[in-house]
Amino acid sequence: MTIKEKTEDVLLRVSNAAEKSGRSLNDITVVAVTKTVGVDKINEVVSSGIINLGENRVQEFNNKYNQLINNDVKWHMIGHLQTNKVKYIIDKVELIHSVESIKLAKEIDKKAEKNNIIAKILIELNIGQEYSKFGVSEDDIIDLLKELEQFNNIKICGLMTVAPYCNNPEDIRWVFKKMKEKYDNISTLHFKNVEMKYLSMGMTNDFEIAIEEGANIVRIGTGFFGERNY
Ligand SMILES: *Cc1c(COP(=O)(O)O)cnc(C)c1O
Repeated sequence: MTIKEKTEDVLLRVSNAAEKSGRSLNDITVVAVTKTVGVDKINEVVSSGIINLGENRVQEFNNKYNQLINNDVKWHMIGHLQTNKVKYIIDKVELIHSVESIKLAKEIDKKAEKNNIIAKILIELNIGQEYSKFGVSEDDIIDLLKELEQFNNIKICGLMTVAPYCNNPEDIRWVFKKMKEKYDNISTLHFKNVEMKYLSMGMTNDFEIAIEEGANIVRIGTGFFGERNY
């Protein structure tokens, strides 16, 4: 399949999954994850109507950002972000998905203030990934949200997770259900700086189940571009 055909296929599947949960394609932000992918291929998804792109490494992001600067695209930082690299992306990304510590949030706030912007962030939750070092545990999220009230230049717009890889994604449906529960629960609490709007979950292997369970941002790489060559 060409990238254009793959894109049509992904969007159809997103649309069908959205309908199963009483929504439509327009309710779902589809982020094309472009790590390891060159600009020529990225342009193919962009010309098929995808405007949200995601990267997980700052240097790779910056290269592509500069090459695509004249395109009407929005960038998402989806990977682990080191505090000393926040300054390179703060004014260039639409949303930072992967905030998992007070230290990182503090740096984002500081650099956002410097740039006179309010940075939009998601908190990365670690559910079902016993061995992952990334993400906040569900026991710690409420305390973290309380601590984040001290900042003036960040807006917490939702939650993100990377579910464990499973051959049968039905086996991790519970992870997505639990994320949605947390998301709904936090929506009822009134923290300063928090406005639950986005639930970022679902990748190539499991996005349909994530959408059925309430995801409204999915991050899809392989589905658009095929297997990655590192
Ligand atoms: C690579 C990556 C994705 C996309 O993975 P695919 O399985 O290729 O769809 C999504 N989210 C994050 C955080 C990633 O690093």
